[in-house]
Amino acid sequence: MPFTQLGLMPELLRALSAAGYARPTPIQSQAIPAILEGKDLIGTAQTGTGKTAAFVLPFLQRLSKSSGKIRALVLTPTRELAVQVELAVRKYGRFLGLRSTAIYGGVSQIPQEEALTRGVDIVVATPGRLLDLVGQGLLHLSKVEILVLDEADRMLDMGFLPDIREVVRLLPRQRQTLLFSATFPDEIRDLAHSVQKAPVRVDAGVPRMPAKGVEQHLFPVLPHLKTDLLLHLLGKETMEPLLVFTRTKHGADRLHRILERHRYKVAQIHSGRSQRQRQEALDGFRKSRYQILVATDIASRGIDVQDISHVLNFDIPNNADDYIHRVGRTGRAEKPGIAYSFVSPEDEIHVQSIEKSIRKRLRRIKIDDFSYKTPIKPSGSTKSSFQERISSAFAAENRLVPDTAQSPKVFDRFASRTGTSIRETVMLRMNEPKLPARANTSKNRTVTRHHQRPASRSPRFLGGPSKEEQTELKRLQVKLFGASALRPPRHFSARRSAGSRLKD
Ligand code: AMP
Repeated sequence: MPFTQLGLMPELLRALSAAGYARPTPIQSQAIPAILEGKDLIGTAQTGTGKTAAFVLPFLQRLSKSSGKIRALVLTPTRELAVQVELAVRKYGRFLGLRSTAIYGGVSQIPQEEALTRGVDIVVATPGRLLDLVGQGLLHLSKVEILVLDEADRMLDMGFLPDIREVVRLLPRQRQTLLFSATFPDEIRDLAHSVQKAPVRVDAGVPRMPAKGVEQHLFPVLPHLKTDLLLHLLGKETMEPLLVFTRTKHGADRLHRILERHRYKVAQIHSGRSQRQRQEALDGFRKSRYQILVATDIASRGIDVQDISHVLNFDIPNNADDYIHRVGRTGRAEKPGIAYSFVSPEDEIHVQSIEKSIRKRLRRIKIDDFSYKTPIKPSGSTKSSFQERISSAFAAENRLVPDTAQSPKVFDRFASRTGTSIRETVMLRMNEPKLPARANTSKNRTVTRHHQRPASRSPRFLGGPSKEEQTELKRLQVKLFGASALRPPRHFSARRSAGSRLKD
């Protein structure tokens, strides 16, 4: 069914054709006629289904003429979603004379006050700031004709139920109430029951699977190699715009720093950033000022950026719903998209639940020219590591480098103890018992080094090399790496001080 058969006014049809929409999505075909008739409605739909246009188009038509009084109110769980919905209001209402504004916390309220003073017809708001402004007498809800509760389940998850009830108390009883929710638990049923009258139910089908056009692949990789693998993929493949999800804000910070150091145009969005920073990151990503956006789950529901080509789960989420939400950021509105997930052995349990949920076994990919055996090195290091310098020195001498040449310290100790040739040193190192890789924390690095010491070593060895050994060691290092080798690389300082503590 084309848009023209939904009963929409010419100004809205013009805006839709300017937006390049050829036909309505299923939720739009079902919801628009019912909302135009003035009915209350429950829409089971989430971001990515076209739900925003499904409620914005008909309420614009119902308002149609500006009065300068707030007649439509949309409540959203997050600031990002408030901004996004308000942008949609402007986009679809561009040929109507209606005025709208977004009201949300975390930023100065002055511009919001000014917009309210000029007069608006539509407010899209998060509940907290809305009630603040109501409390200050700056915002009046007595003329509201249409209330939309967007992502109602998420608002309840975030503890907004008392605020929603408070807002509803301030509205006229005679109004149209639209409620959209991705899930429909009892709490939502109860809320709907208390704020709506005989609602029509439309169901866009909660996607239990990412969109058909999305290719999904898993990259098995040890946790400490994820950053290297990402840099490797970025070097091999055009992956822009790329949305990367990390589990924690610290993880996002760290990855953001590393990508910046590698000269990628990258922004980040998580709960540790101010609202202004979050908005700047999102706008910049939308407008292609940034190639990569690193985000935690806070962003996964709200983000609507057209044409995200790749989504990468740097850390795979621990439940299928979050996976589907995240992957749903690509392949939107029936466009193709690619979703990659890095998975370490301990993620296998989450992978199983995701695969069960989407009823599909995901393809595992191994990259031929990526070294999956590189040992743990200090995180975030962009300078060539001592390991790499050993490699290149060996390469220059046309010798084999086993990946067991793990740390400069271990290498140095062997060199000093035996006074052997480099090749002999390496062979000795290769015969050492191998230990499993450990988490990359300075504490664990210390412990690992401690464990790596063969039991047979003498107490003297534990005390470090003698003076003569040190001189011989320096001579060897200078021969191999030049005078600069005597200056310890900065990123090894923690390791060295851990070493000195061990010696004491
Ligand atoms: P939403 O589910 O509201 O977040 O919308 C998801 C994306 O689909 C947004 O970028 C919309 O601009 C886009 N969209 C909405 N309706 C249509 C449509 N009928 N045809 C093509 N794209 C659409």
